[in-house]
This record gives sequence, C-alpha cells and structure tokens, in this order.
Amino acid sequence: MTWKDGKRWVYSITYDEGCEALLDNAVPVHRKYGIPGHVALVAREVGVPRMAAGSSYEGMMILSREQIHMLVAEGWGVSCHSMTHAAITDENAEYEVVESRKVLEDALEMPVTMFCVPNSNESYPASRAVAHKAGYNSILTIYDDVNIIESDLLRLCRCPLHTEYPPPFYSAYDPYKRIHQAIDAGGWIIDYCHCPMPDRPIHPWKDCTLQQLEERFQTVLRVGGDDVWLAEPNEVVEYILNTKR
Ligand SMILES: [Zn+2]
Repeated sequence: MTWKDGKRWVYSITYDEGCEALLDNAVPVHRKYGIPGHVALVAREVGVPRMAAGSSYEGMMILSREQIHMLVAEGWGVSCHSMTHAAITDENAEYEVVESRKVLEDALEMPVTMFCVPNSNESYPASRAVAHKAGYNSILTIYDDVNIIESDLLRLCRCPLHTEYPPPFYSAYDPYKRIHQAIDAGGWIIDYCHCPMPDRPIHPWKDCTLQQLEERFQTVLRVGGDDVWLAEPNEVVEYILNTKR
C-alpha cells in the first residue's frame, strides 16, 4: 500500500513543550511552506510559563488553549507530554501518563490520543505499559529512525533536527537527514525539536535555528516534490489505522 493520495513517503515535524515563541518564529515558516506542525504539551502547562526545573525552556511561556486551537485549525496536531515532565517509572505512570491525558483534554477541550515520552527513552517502557489503559493509540519516542507503515504505533521514532549533536561526534546539521532513507523505504520521518530561534539555537542538542528549519523544509519539498505527504502525526496514525488494520 502507499500513503494517502498515492504519496510515496511522509514528512512530519513535532515541537516538544509547545512554547509560545513558536508563533513568532516557526509558525510563519510553516505557513510559508504549507507544512503542518505538532506540539507535545505537558498537561499542567497550557498557557502558563514552563515549570520543569532545569529545563532549557524553563520560564518560557507555553501556548494557550486559544493559540493551540488556532494552530489546530491550520492543520497542526497535539500530543500529551506527561503531567509534569518527570522521568516515567512504574510508580508514577498512572499520574504522568494516564491521568495527564484527561487533564490535557480538559485544558484543551479536544481529544488527545498520542503520548510523547518526556526526558529520555528510559521513560519509554513504563509509559508504554499503561498506554492502552490510558487510551492512547500512539507514542512518540526519541529513538532516531524512519518509521514505515508497519511500524509499531506505540513506538514511533523521531529524527532530531538539531544544530549540533552530542559528544563525541558533534555532528554538523544535515538538512537531508533520513530523507533519502525515507524515500527508499517508503517511510515516514517525524522530525523532533523544541523551539527554533533566529541565528542561535536555545540548546544545540535540542534545537535547530530558524534558518536551519527553513533549510529543512526547502530540502523536503525540493527532494520530495509531489511524492511527499506533509502531515501532522495524528493524521498519519489515523490513516494507518483506517487503511491497514
Ligand atoms: Zn520535553
């Protein structure tokens, strides 16, 4: 089978935390290129400054319900990024993964069916263990790979779109990252970053710059042409569930 409307591969991008600064920076670039985005939201942090202590994004204002509804009306999607952004264990999973879904749905007044693992992939097993009970149909991780149509929807991989990767490699930014692999595999890239800013990333391992974001979009469109489906992740999950299974 192929992707929607006969497309050969899929491109998505997600922004963890959902900083309000996206509206001044990434969102205009999305509008310019017609690519929908997606925000992973900490359930208790809608329309308030980011609380997670020590986070590179601590204190930054998070999108409000009204702003999120505006983005959703433009084709963006949302996922639940836990209740507090704590590391997920078997002990706190009920609160962080199960209860957080209801809290976020109430805060946004919209359904939320995707979970986004906070912190590191060490939080993944305990998140996954309760995902079905919580009512999620999919989980975003930070395992770095291309997804395919047969991929486990409860272990979706994401491709970090960062200015520089961690030691010991310090890999330079690559606007082509995984694109040719996705084309060959008929796959699905889900890019991962936080809040691209002009000229300098907030954290070089967690973000790219606004210029690099635009370079990525230009590369996706130039290389992908008519073959790439530009979609936010929930839409792709729904397509897979409705078409294949
Ligand atoms: Zn996060």
